Amino acid sequence: MTHASIFPASPLRRLCARMIRGGAGMAARLAGGGAAALPLDRRWLRAGEAGAGRVDLVGAGPGDPELLTLKARRLLAEAEVVVHDRLISAEILALIPRRARRIAAGKQGFGPSVPQEEINALLVQHARAGARVVRLKSGDPGVYGRLDEEVEALDANGIDWAITPGLTAASAAAAALGQGLTARGRNTGVRLLTGHDVAGFAEQDWRGLAEPGAVAAIYMGKRAARFLQGRLLMHGAGGETPVSVVENASRPDQRIRPTTLAALPAALEGVGGPAVLLYGLAPRGAAARAEPEEKSA
Ligand code: SAH
Repeated sequence: MTHASIFPASPLRRLCARMIRGGAGMAARLAGGGAAALPLDRRWLRAGEAGAGRVDLVGAGPGDPELLTLKARRLLAEAEVVVHDRLISAEILALIPRRARRIAAGKQGFGPSVPQEEINALLVQHARAGARVVRLKSGDPGVYGRLDEEVEALDANGIDWAITPGLTAASAAAAALGQGLTARGRNTGVRLLTGHDVAGFAEQDWRGLAEPGAVAAIYMGKRAARFLQGRLLMHGAGGETPVSVVENASRPDQRIRPTTLAALPAALEGVGGPAVLLYGLAPRGAAARAEPEEKSA
């Protein structure tokens, strides 16, 4: 039996028929179908469930919006509050829905920062109020992202959370060099290092790093370059060891500066954007033929 045969042909009939169809659609979506309608349904469901917010800790990748995962993209589209890092590119920020509240919570190694406790408190506060919160971090949230502190704060407050990995800067930087982070016969392992940590310049396994063929991706290494250079040379690394400075990896203003351990501090002059130092790697093929000086100011 069709709706048309139940109701007489009138505006009232059309309205009733539409309500029946709408009701059936809503029932189907609540039963798990209809991905397109999900955000609305979630909000609708949550209205009766006070405090059912959650936090997704999401990796935004190194900057190119095409390097976002589909999952990151979906979570951003569904977000009601987005708390983001200083390094998130403008193109990715543009993907945040206009209805979502956007909060910049930048941290900088030696510069002005929002204290970690304040960021934790923000996440807790918005999730408690019932919001779907995305904590958007550059690269992979688990690589120098202070992920543990945020996750612990969420756990301590009984807030539901999940991590969505992202492409870390080292991967994009190695790709820009035309290199793998590992290579058969060259290096069976790769270290991710930071130039400094909360306590200052960070100590490392310098002896291991000084071995021929060692490869490391050094994050936040610009200010620590002289310290790194001194320690490595002292532990026997050759001054001619290749180091590639990859600035703004994956972004339109990406720049590669191939250098050596001996010349590293000089090569870093004028590097204003985020940069990964790929120790032990030189550009190859087309990446090596690119003209590095062309883009300099
Ligand atoms: N979670 C991030 C790292 C955050 S620490 C990741 O996985 O990539 C911040 C440091 O990351 C910067 O100081 C810089 O060393 C590096 N970085 C982040 N984005 C970068 C980019 N697009 N190009 C080069 N280095 C980048």
